[in-house]
Formats: sequence, C-alpha cells, structure tokens
Amino acid sequence: MTVLRGGAATDVGRVRSNNQDQLLVAETLFAVADGMGGHAGGEVASLAAVEALKAAFDDNPSADGLADAVRNANQVVWNRAQEGRDLRGMGTTLTALALVEGDREEDSILAVVNVGDSRAYLLRDGDLDQLTDDHSVPEELRRAGRLSDAEAAAHPQRNVLTRALGIEPNVEVDCFQVTPYEGDRLVLSSDGLYNEVDQDDIAAVLRRVPDPEKAAQELVSMAREHGGNDNITVVVVDVVDDNSRSIRGSAAVAADPVRPSSAGRRQRDPGIQGGAPSVSTPSPPGPSSPTVPPPGGSFRSPDVIAGHRRRVTLRSTVFVVLVLFVFLAGLGATAWYGRGGYFVGIADRGDDDIAIFKGRPGGLLWFKPTVAERTDLSLAEVLPNRADDIREGKEYSSIDAARRYVQNITEEAGPNNTTTTMPLPPGPTTTAVTPASAPQPQP
Ligand code: MN
Repeated sequence: MTVLRGGAATDVGRVRSNNQDQLLVAETLFAVADGMGGHAGGEVASLAAVEALKAAFDDNPSADGLADAVRNANQVVWNRAQEGRDLRGMGTTLTALALVEGDREEDSILAVVNVGDSRAYLLRDGDLDQLTDDHSVPEELRRAGRLSDAEAAAHPQRNVLTRALGIEPNVEVDCFQVTPYEGDRLVLSSDGLYNEVDQDDIAAVLRRVPDPEKAAQELVSMAREHGGNDNITVVVVDVVDDNSRSIRGSAAVAADPVRPSSAGRRQRDPGIQGGAPSVSTPSPPGPSSPTVPPPGGSFRSPDVIAGHRRRVTLRSTVFVVLVLFVFLAGLGATAWYGRGGYFVGIADRGDDDIAIFKGRPGGLLWFKPTVAERTDLSLAEVLPNRADDIREGKEYSSIDAARRYVQNITEEAGPNNTTTTMPLPPGPTTTAVTPASAPQPQP
C-alpha cells in the first residue's frame, strides 16, 4: 500500500491584511488555492473551491474524479460570484494532488491538477522539478519562447492570470500523473513562496528538513524574511511507503540484459524541459502501465513523470535520442529561417550607411544578421518614409530583390536633393483627424 504523509504552513505575509490562500491536507488529497478579487472575494473563492474539491473527490476518488472535482469547484465559485456584487469577479487558483488507484490494483499513482499560478513540485533523488505550468501572462510568453526566464520572473504582469477558477462557467484543467516512489517529496505552493525564494533555496530546505510540516514552516518563514509581499502557503507531501515499488523497479532493471551502463545518469535532458512539445513517454519495463492521459484533461510534462532513474532502459535511451533529434531539427529550422532572408538596414550604430544584410532584423536567437553588401547610400539621403522602413529593416527573400529596392531608393534620392525636403503628395493624408471622443484642448 502506498502511504503519504503531509504537512503544511500558511502565513498572511508582511504586506497583506488578510490571508486569501487556502490549503487542504487530508489522507490522500492535498491542495493549495490562492484567491483573488474584491474585499472578501478572494477568501470566499479559495475556501469554496477547496471545499467543493474535497466533496466531489470523496464521491469519486480517482484521477478522472479529481479533474472533474476541479471543474465542479469552478462551477461552484462561478455561481457564488454571480450572487452578489461584493463577490463579482472573484476567482482562485487551485493546485491539488491525490493518491488514486492506477491501472493495476496494487499500484497507486499520484494525480496532480492545476489551474492558475500556484505550483506543484517534485523532489526526487535530490532534484526539484516544477510539475505544473503557471497560467500567467509572462509564463505563457516564456513557454512560447518570447521571454527569457529572467524577463518572465521580473515581468510587471506576473500577477495577471490567463486561467483561474470562477472567472468563466467552464475551465480547462491541466492534469498530470506521477508514479510515486518511496522518498519522493511533493510540494504545493502559492506564488507567495516562489516569488520570494529561489528554486535552489526551496530545494535546499526540502533536502535538509525531513519532517514535512517543519519543511513547510521553514519555507514559509523564509518567504516572509525575503519580503513577504503576498500570502504564503506551502504543503509538503512525502511518499513514506511505495508498496515496494522501488525494489520491484530495481529488480526489473537488474534483470534487463540490455541495460546501458549509464543507468545512474539522469534520464532526461534538462535543456528540453519547458517549451518543448509533448513527446510520448517511454514505457517502464515490465507489465506496469505507462502514464496515460486522463480523458477530458490535457496531459503534459511527460518528461517529469517518465519514471525513476532506477528504471533507465534501452527504450528510454532511444527516447532521449529522439528528443535530442527533435530539438536539433528545431534548431536547424530556426537557423534556416533566422539566416534565410535578406533585409536592407543600417550598417552600424552611429553610422548611417545603408547595407544589405543576410538574416532577420534584430536577429533570431543567436543567429545574428551579417552584412551581405554595403551600398553608397546613407540614411540622410533617402526619403523620410523610406528611412523609417530601413531603420526597422526592410525584408526581402532574395538578395536581388533587396538590390532592386536599394536601386529604387537611390533613384528617388537623386544626385542633388539630399537636403531637399520632398513635397508631400496632394490629398488628405496630411490632415490630422481628431476623433470625436478625443479630449479637446482647453481654450
Ligand atoms: Mn498569491
């Protein structure tokens, strides 16, 4: 029988006047909710969500039941929010973890669900991984490759959620499954923890403090000391017994004649995590079931769930090679695109000479544009609207097209009119249009 032991702590922080976070520690169900909105709205939303989650999960304690319970909690919060003006617009995050039956009766699994920017982490073999994706504006941009980790962490809109409970009548729920091994430690937390404490420091506390409740308390006080700008809530859940799963797993690996010598190595490439598309999970050896996407819930982050390092097999080595191949193919495509075109731009900063470049204006990742051809023309010689285009980089698919453009703007510039202001074309283009709603200047 798989056994969990949980501990938790919460604190209002040093800035807020009330604690809108809510937590749940039950025998097989754990949750964190971070409420928002209105005077009392945030507290009402997070409490209603956790209560509704517990009630619905108790009726159907399975992986599907957990995802349904979150959807049910969304409806409960949404309905409450429609009731009174004070509660309108309230919402809450919800991150929960439950021990449920796996496909084989004796093999329980951990089901994890998430909506919003509270997080679930897994500490396994001393490494801390974030299981959930934050549904916030900067994190969505970071996953799309448009912000760096540092830019996302410092983003002014990092409190703006793209998904939460109670905002719409229906909600999409992220679902994950983790195969529990003895010694695994799972953590649920509100953003009040990770906005104040680095992930490395969180991991250090989790490795050092064996008691789950004391670990949660220490993390909460650390976040207070580092600023305490928000409510802080931490739930720590230890897998204290895994029904001899680890031992059976080791035996399966030992019995596998094709086991590579690198069995102790970490199974996944950390460079692939985050932003990489979902790739199917390698099956662990033996008859135990691979992770299966729950119906009705999206299923992501298989790299974290893939299994235990004691189970590294030839199949997972092939998987790593495949993932690497996909990554390199992506890199190749990026290089092809990043270096593919031409544009007409300014040769050097502080120097207005116009040149034809190979690449994309501003570059793409680390594929920087290079000068393909210099021209005799400088920015001061071309028409003002052309100059604007060139400052941004005028793009062409071939060098010939770029040359024709340079030819055109050279002819437009003419031999002697470099300082002449060109007459504007007739017509209404120069008439400033004042919208009716625009504020009029005071007389
Ligand atoms: Mn918060």
